[in-house]
Amino acid sequence: MRSESNRRRGRRRRTRRTLYLRATAVVLNPDSDVLLVQYNGQDDWALPGGNIEEGEDSDERVVTEVEEETGVNIGDLLLHVGRYAGTMAVHEVYMAPGSGELRPTHRAIQDAIWWDGVQPLQVQPHVNAILEMIDSIEVQDSDVHVDVQDTNLPIEETGDSLWQTESVPILEPQAAPPVYEPQASPEEQTLSSNTDRSPTWALILATVWAWTVVVASWLADRLIDVMLITRSNERRIRPTKRVTWRKGLKQELMKRQDKTCVYCGYRRIARSLDIDHMIPVVDGGSNDPSNLQVICRPCNQRKGSQTDAEFRERYSRLVPATPLTSPNRRISQAEFREETRRTSQSTRVRERRRTRYISPREKIVSGCLIAGVVVTVLVAYGLSLLGAEGLLMAIPALVVGGAVGLGLWLRADVTGATLEDEG
Ligand SMILES: [Zn+2]
Repeated sequence: MRSESNRRRGRRRRTRRTLYLRATAVVLNPDSDVLLVQYNGQDDWALPGGNIEEGEDSDERVVTEVEEETGVNIGDLLLHVGRYAGTMAVHEVYMAPGSGELRPTHRAIQDAIWWDGVQPLQVQPHVNAILEMIDSIEVQDSDVHVDVQDTNLPIEETGDSLWQTESVPILEPQAAPPVYEPQASPEEQTLSSNTDRSPTWALILATVWAWTVVVASWLADRLIDVMLITRSNERRIRPTKRVTWRKGLKQELMKRQDKTCVYCGYRRIARSLDIDHMIPVVDGGSNDPSNLQVICRPCNQRKGSQTDAEFRERYSRLVPATPLTSPNRRISQAEFREETRRTSQSTRVRERRRTRYISPREKIVSGCLIAGVVVTVLVAYGLSLLGAEGLLMAIPALVVGGAVGLGLWLRADVTGATLEDEG
């Protein structure tokens, strides 16, 4: 008894844990042998019984379990003797007389025996505790006589048995908390844990994430545009008056230049060539043919509001400095683009006013791209925590996130170049 109370004191600080509600039977045969069962893969023996589901009657449960686990029918004489709280389960303890040949049919049971209580046997902690508990109860007006005294049983020191018949009131099983199946076979456990991981909401997460990226990218892009336009200087936003050219002027200029763009050196048809002011009107350039030239549309876009001299200086590595002379060789737009990118990063160009229209966009877009990749990886990781299905669903999120990021990057390149050169 002292060892019991010591044990109780020592375990006072145990953390809470989930308890299962079990219907447990002490079945005694006419020789007062106790019915014990051995669960699959276990060395020690236990009292027969089973977990009680919510809304299930524990007495019906125990009758069914005993029959399935041992083949013994205890239907008629069943006595509820109390409740025992172990560390893993709270047992609703029943007693019943029983006899007969043991034929375990339950798949969780590997063996069943009648135990005389004398033969040394390795039993689970609850067996000794429950037998002691029954021994301490005075059974009156009952046909069932309990005699399991003088049980020199090997006490399981590692066991967690704990008497609680005094502190735990005997309640109706219906009032018990929800009960789970702790001793389900490994097969059942795997199945039930898989159904908890629903791939559906992983798919929803991935979809929501993908659309968030798309919308956020679009908003960021619009915001950058607005910011850049607001910061544009007066010259950039001042509308240019449309000029009506006199008839034959374009043909004149084309003939003068041999239908060749003065910057890239490509020959073009009339429709692909624009009349361009070498010095823009907003900078005081005139409409006199001496200030006019024809250039191809991509070059025109690239030149934008720059003067002829500014453009040639900017692209001095490609275009000769002298106006109105064709370059020695033809220059592709790809080369121009590359030069735009290179010069926008040089110190000299950065000092010029136009470069600040590129840099913020590039910075912001790069930031968006990096943030997008980081968030994508985080989301993918989060989804992977949901299991294999989640990881599978993370792949579309990664693909969409990557595609949007790439699109943003490419658009930044194009828009950046266009913005810089537009008038
Ligand atoms: Zn050109």
